[in-house]
Amino acid sequence: MTSQTTTHEFQAETKKLLDIVINSLYTERDVFVRELISNAADALEKFRHESLTVDDLFDAHMPLEITIDLDKEKHLFTITDTGIGMSRAELEGNLGTIAHSGSSTFVTQLAEAARKDVNLIGQFGVGFYAAFMAGHTVRVQSRSWDGSEGHEWASDGTGSYTITEEKGLHRGTRIIVELKDDAHDYAEKWKIEQIVKQYSSFVSFPVKLEDETINTVQALWTRSRSEISEEEYNEFYKFVGNAPSDPLYRLHFSADAPLAINALLFVPTENFEHLGFGRVDPGVNLYCQRVLIDQHSKHILPEWLRFLKGVVDSEDLPLNISRQSLQDNALLAKVRKVITKRFLKYLDEEARKDPKAYLEFWKTFGIYLKEGVTSDYEFQKELGKLIRFESSRSEDGVPVSLAEYVERMAEGQDAIYYISGPNRAAIEAGPYVEMFTRRDIEILYTMEPIDDFVLNHLGEFEDKKLISADRADLDLGEDKSSDADKAEEQKDSLDQDSSAALVDWLKKALEDKVQDVIISKRLVDSPAMIVNPDGYMTSSMERVMAASRMEKGMAPEAGKKNLEINAASPLVKRLAELQKSDEPFAQAVAEQIYDNAMIQAGLVVDPLTLVERNYKILNRAAGV
Ligand code: ADP
Ligand code: MG
Repeated sequence: MTSQTTTHEFQAETKKLLDIVINSLYTERDVFVRELISNAADALEKFRHESLTVDDLFDAHMPLEITIDLDKEKHLFTITDTGIGMSRAELEGNLGTIAHSGSSTFVTQLAEAARKDVNLIGQFGVGFYAAFMAGHTVRVQSRSWDGSEGHEWASDGTGSYTITEEKGLHRGTRIIVELKDDAHDYAEKWKIEQIVKQYSSFVSFPVKLEDETINTVQALWTRSRSEISEEEYNEFYKFVGNAPSDPLYRLHFSADAPLAINALLFVPTENFEHLGFGRVDPGVNLYCQRVLIDQHSKHILPEWLRFLKGVVDSEDLPLNISRQSLQDNALLAKVRKVITKRFLKYLDEEARKDPKAYLEFWKTFGIYLKEGVTSDYEFQKELGKLIRFESSRSEDGVPVSLAEYVERMAEGQDAIYYISGPNRAAIEAGPYVEMFTRRDIEILYTMEPIDDFVLNHLGEFEDKKLISADRADLDLGEDKSSDADKAEEQKDSLDQDSSAALVDWLKKALEDKVQDVIISKRLVDSPAMIVNPDGYMTSSMERVMAASRMEKGMAPEAGKKNLEINAASPLVKRLAELQKSDEPFAQAVAEQIYDNAMIQAGLVVDPLTLVERNYKILNRAAGV
């Protein structure tokens, strides 16, 4: 009695993935056991979840468990689960294609990771296809929980697979791996036992091997903190986070009121987005009374905490909550808020306890907190305490907190100042810092493109406004230099009439470039600087936005700036005379001063025009 067999081609991306799995990853073979167990556990979780709301289930009596059978003679590794199973269409859809979003980038990244360090592979979860690391042939017999007829899927992992109807199957899935010649030890009991202990001891269903349960089934997060050893925590982290090493931070927290919550959260040691991989998926699973409701949940934490791994369990959520309704569930929103606040508080505590360790965290994951400030108003207050920047008083490479800045502020200072630049040296050589140095006021250095947006969104910290030093309306008050010095400078400066005449002339000379020209009250040594008349836009923000417009093929739109000039600068004083005696040359000098100031502000100038003009000026200076 033969039933009909159909043959199907793998999707192109699947073929590529299979090729990587079979040819590059054989050194990491153990992974296949973990992947198949994790799929079996997922299928059981799904079944358990469905069984809460659906009465009429096929093979309802079967215990929820995973069984591994080994055949040393025939070289077979077989894993059976009584989970949700797969229909014919599901076998085709799930095992013939890669469901992963953006599967083509996924495969490219995977290939890249395999080249760099095979250990990184664990982070990806190559999934079902890992079975082909150890098997020359893989057969999957499955019957769906809806009771429709079962099927066998079979393939040798090269180009195609077959599907055949298979009568008399129980609910769930059995995967038979026919082991390759050099993989026969996966039919050895000791080998499998060791792998399960190492990777899968926290699976929440019994894993049976020769009638013996080889894992300890428990929800670690529901146990009391004092009973859990450091080692158990670390093992659990490696299990939920698919991680090769211990975590950087861990928070285990339980609450009864106002909501019953158990959360066990981990911060990994590495930032995978930093390492050049795409955006990572959230890594925290949502449970309700120990039943998995939503794996890698997008709803239980804000998106900017996607780097966290772990588990959140709340007894208060209705068990039969559907995945679709998670998005706008009010109770879940409350749980999210409580956990997020608690986690941010934990970070603040850690930062106080061990500032050095926190700086490590900040260097690796600070970017996510910055993303939080710009995207999530709800937690700004907490996030404000956690962000760090270098400053004129900090050591090179050792950022400070806003709280430290405020603590150091002198009586009467009512704002926190910052200025952007590509690096410390460039900022300190620029015109914006000199007035702060002169007045002995600390100033933060923002060196990442996102930083000015972060501080702009934050707006204030402990009632102190956050103000960029390139704002046109910046008022730092009187400086502290002695009256004698000031008188000396006054004497050296252009007098009022000449200043006014120079300003009038400059406004005309730079008419199509600047909005206004002003005699500066704050410059010390530099001849000029660019300031922003729009109080909310900083030069750095403008640069970022211009770059993003250019990426989209649009012209970089720049608002006109103000040019502040230093009436005590010898160059500016000379310009006031030149303007009368040699206007064409004065025009070139004025434009060059403007371009120089733009460059110091990190803004775009036309390099061709600049170079041409610069030669003109050099020729004159060299007496050509
Ligand atoms: P992932 O687990 O990340 O989704 P896999 O490659 O491991 O990717 O599995 C692909 C899909 O195949 C799963 O999402 C699931 O739908 C299905 N699947 C795999 N193993 C089983 C199983 N034992 N029972 C039911 N479905 C399964
Ligand atoms: Mg899987």
